Amino acid sequence: MPELPEVETVRRTLQQLIVGKTIDHVTVKLPRIVQKPDDPHLFAAWLEGRTVRSVERRGKFLRLVMDGIVLVSHLRMEGRYGLYRQDEPIENHTHVIFHFTDGTELRYKDVRQFGTMHLFLPGEEWQSPPLNKLGLEPLDDSFTIEAFRTALGKRTTKIKPLLLNQEVIVGLGNIYVDEALHMAGIHPETPANEIAKNKRDLLHGSIVETLSSAVNAGGSSIKSYVNGQGEMGFFQHSLKAYGRTGEPCHSCGSPIEKSVVGGRGTHVCPKCQKPPRAVKAQRSLSKTNKRGNTVKNRLDGKNR
Ligand SMILES: [Zn+2]
Repeated sequence: MPELPEVETVRRTLQQLIVGKTIDHVTVKLPRIVQKPDDPHLFAAWLEGRTVRSVERRGKFLRLVMDGIVLVSHLRMEGRYGLYRQDEPIENHTHVIFHFTDGTELRYKDVRQFGTMHLFLPGEEWQSPPLNKLGLEPLDDSFTIEAFRTALGKRTTKIKPLLLNQEVIVGLGNIYVDEALHMAGIHPETPANEIAKNKRDLLHGSIVETLSSAVNAGGSSIKSYVNGQGEMGFFQHSLKAYGRTGEPCHSCGSPIEKSVVGGRGTHVCPKCQKPPRAVKAQRSLSKTNKRGNTVKNRLDGKNR
């Protein structure tokens, strides 16, 4: 699943490739990608003759801003954009083609077919789904320490699922949440309201740093994309927690542990990210149960 840094890289690439181009006509080969309007012929008709003015991003949504219309596009699991010459063969799983007047084509390919496209009059996109309920934008100037504190508020939700909630903050997927929490030294199961003020501010900085460095890493692949590979891949980020189960923590050397938090695979350094009281208590209880001992026995054992 592309996360915010990947989508931002796609945005930058598209900004370089298609701004100034005018759509001659549009071919929709798989109508279900087009969510609004629900008639793909109308979708195509609305886009004819429009010139792309800029490519923006909100969370993991791309906004192709054109004269008089805005296309909101979500890549979901496998969506890819690529710019081709019109004489290049059309690859499998190409579902929407934007034919430009200069003989090039923007092709949307999606093996899983989960991607979506919505058309809006300019400004209308903020009033209705999918953009109307999105939370803070972590790479925007509006993402201040104050705004982050307010968003967390007095919530008692565990911090990891809270950060994954797009209505609180957008664009943070499983990978970058694990990375940001690891960098800030916060256990993912800590209730948001139990995180100390200085740690919360540290987390704000880790979110920005984690995402920006990933965006910068992704930026370097723009050239190969332009050269006609036609699709974006994932980038090799230097991940410090995610996917490193059993490998030593870069700060303290303890092996990174994997658990499940809110149904998602979660990577934690047991030393740098101390669990909250509730989790500690639960763990020692389940350890006791596994050994078949009573709590009393365990306490006795400690006293020996
Ligand atoms: Zn550590």
